[in-house]
Amino acid sequence: MTDHAHLRHGVKDNHYKRLAIAVRELLIEKGVVTEDEIATFMARMDARSPELGARMVARAWVDPEYKKRMLADGSAAAEELGIAVDGTLLVVVENTEDVHNLFVCTLCSCYPRTILGLPPDWYKGREYRSRVINEPRAVLREFGTDIADGIELRVHDSTADMRYLILPQRPAGTEGWSEDRLAKLVTRDSMIGVSLPLRPDQLDQLEHAAE
Ligand code: FE
Repeated sequence: MTDHAHLRHGVKDNHYKRLAIAVRELLIEKGVVTEDEIATFMARMDARSPELGARMVARAWVDPEYKKRMLADGSAAAEELGIAVDGTLLVVVENTEDVHNLFVCTLCSCYPRTILGLPPDWYKGREYRSRVINEPRAVLREFGTDIADGIELRVHDSTADMRYLILPQRPAGTEGWSEDRLAKLVTRDSMIGVSLPLRPDQLDQLEHAAE
């Protein structure tokens, strides 16, 4: 980002921040919402994290019937696991041997926040948003993700009404694993589609590093 763009971004943030405060105060004044309701909503959003999405993915890996329901209706599949989606239309797309999927919001920063929590900074950045459509393979390589030439890349553009979640392929060498153990392989980035899930040896390494 150039200094100029950075400056402009700052001004814009400031404008929206002031707008948000004004709208919030007006809604409270008019009795549309209370301070308490806003505080509760913020706390609920803060409690969201990629662990929710990882639970859905792990369940889909062990339960083919759940996977079918998830691909047919992501919102209903989330709610089946007790994850409230607050009216979001969640579309789940599956990675296969032939197709690798990833998502972006080219317009702004729409993201499945109810399932993955807050988006990473790069997701909201101009570079990812503008480049991923035209050169997804190069962008993936920068994330350390090499997708073979024979595999088709599909980039899905989120909107205010529709959010995506990628169902990655289950890593090899995980036969017989419990759902909880499988969920540990499912990273945030693998559900955005810019990375693959961890391999069993990578999870081992992580766990040993944490000891
Ligand atoms: Fe957006």
